[in-house]
Amino acid sequence: MYKCPGCGAPLRFDPKSQKLGCMFCGRQVDPRDPTLAYANEAEGQTPVGGTQYDSQTGEQEYAALAYVCPNCGAKLLSTEETAATFCSFCGSNVVLDERLDAESAPQRIIPFKVSAQECAEAYKKRLSRAFFAPSSMKKDSEIAKFRGIYMPYWIYSYSTEGMVESDGSVSHRTGDYIIKTNYRLYQQVSGRFSGISYDASSSFSDTLSEAIAPFKAESAVPFATSYLSGFYADVSDVPAEVYAAESEDVAEDFFVDNVMKDPAYPLHGVERTKVRNRMPVRVRVEEKGYFPVWFLSSRTHDNKHINYAVVNGETGKVAADIPVSFGKYLLFSLLAAIPIALFIWFFIVESSEMSLSPMNLIMLAGFVSVAFFFMMNSGLNQAYARENYLNDKGYLKRFGKPNEGSMPFARKLRYLLKPIIGIAAVVVFFLWQPNEDLYYYIGAAVSFVMLILSVLDLVRIHNLRVQQPIPQFKKRGGDENA
Ligand SMILES: [Zn+2]
Ligand SMILES: [Zn+2]
Repeated sequence: MYKCPGCGAPLRFDPKSQKLGCMFCGRQVDPRDPTLAYANEAEGQTPVGGTQYDSQTGEQEYAALAYVCPNCGAKLLSTEETAATFCSFCGSNVVLDERLDAESAPQRIIPFKVSAQECAEAYKKRLSRAFFAPSSMKKDSEIAKFRGIYMPYWIYSYSTEGMVESDGSVSHRTGDYIIKTNYRLYQQVSGRFSGISYDASSSFSDTLSEAIAPFKAESAVPFATSYLSGFYADVSDVPAEVYAAESEDVAEDFFVDNVMKDPAYPLHGVERTKVRNRMPVRVRVEEKGYFPVWFLSSRTHDNKHINYAVVNGETGKVAADIPVSFGKYLLFSLLAAIPIALFIWFFIVESSEMSLSPMNLIMLAGFVSVAFFFMMNSGLNQAYARENYLNDKGYLKRFGKPNEGSMPFARKLRYLLKPIIGIAAVVVFFLWQPNEDLYYYIGAAVSFVMLILSVLDLVRIHNLRVQQPIPQFKKRGGDENA
């Protein structure tokens, strides 16, 4: 904890003024003021917040209090004694274990610009558009659990220097001849691209970090531990190599795009791939950065999964897993069904030439069933990807891939069986072509009953898509040697 030079009370970083403010006397201090003092300076020990050079790893380290969740093993760092009574990653209400820890210090930090109050307002605004969201999500006591966490990111920088040599050709027709001219273009390039960033924590899913991107990596300032006052930091456990190839691709594309802006390239028929293959992308600098994220997790109804909500602490962009409440959804569906049924009856059936003949009806049922089948299948694949972190390179690197690349069909069948029965009923009556209208009505009825049941499954699948299993950081091994 940093203490106020005036009165000795704790200082907190204030996103509005970008200064450390005293809650007691109102004094403001620059976060990098060299005279800032820690409250717990003890003899012989590095005080919390203090930094030291680790001669073994060659890294700068800072001393922090580590708060470890006894349930899921997730670790959060802080520079002050707080009574942490809930876990931001698994959503459980527990007192987190506390211990002194040394963490490798980032080179840069983007200080929080969005205050706790602004975060809550942005989130409430997002929820106000979510009509089917469970009311429990909108409670102030729930929203108060947003925690300001600095998430570790890797920031990559690339440069290019040298000669790009590329070939092209242009053909044109003169009379009976096609004349092809070959060209070789040379261009001297020199450039730098920095600020490509990827999150370096396996506890922060890439799905979430992408949803609230981008951060302006160029607005990062040199790190000082005082910025953490009043906030937390997540541990970085994803090595920088994980995103090396990906970030190099981004940089390469950027350099090639700039070179290709020269009209000489299209004019002489030089293809983009030719330039890309010759692009001399060399030097890479990796820096660790702390980026500000407001973080909230809540348990789902079954108490086995988590819905996350995150707010970009620099821009205020919100990303939230919003489940659909069955109660609200059914009520709405019933209320909406009455006017829709009346509308169809009066305006389409009564007043139009088109009739709901048995044949038309069964075809309609078939089309809708096929559409449902594909919607459900794609939703289930998305749910599986989320559940197994398939889009999260950092997580997969640390915990490994699941055995199956996509959801096993046997598990999907629980949902897909209904549209399949619906489709089968339509196909049977279509092939059979009975003379009695009644049979067509039976086929269509079977199909529509399956569709009505499937609507509830669609809600279930939506809820699967926006949830993650409760994380287990300690049980899956990794580099946690606590
Ligand atoms: Zn003060
Ligand atoms: Zn936890």
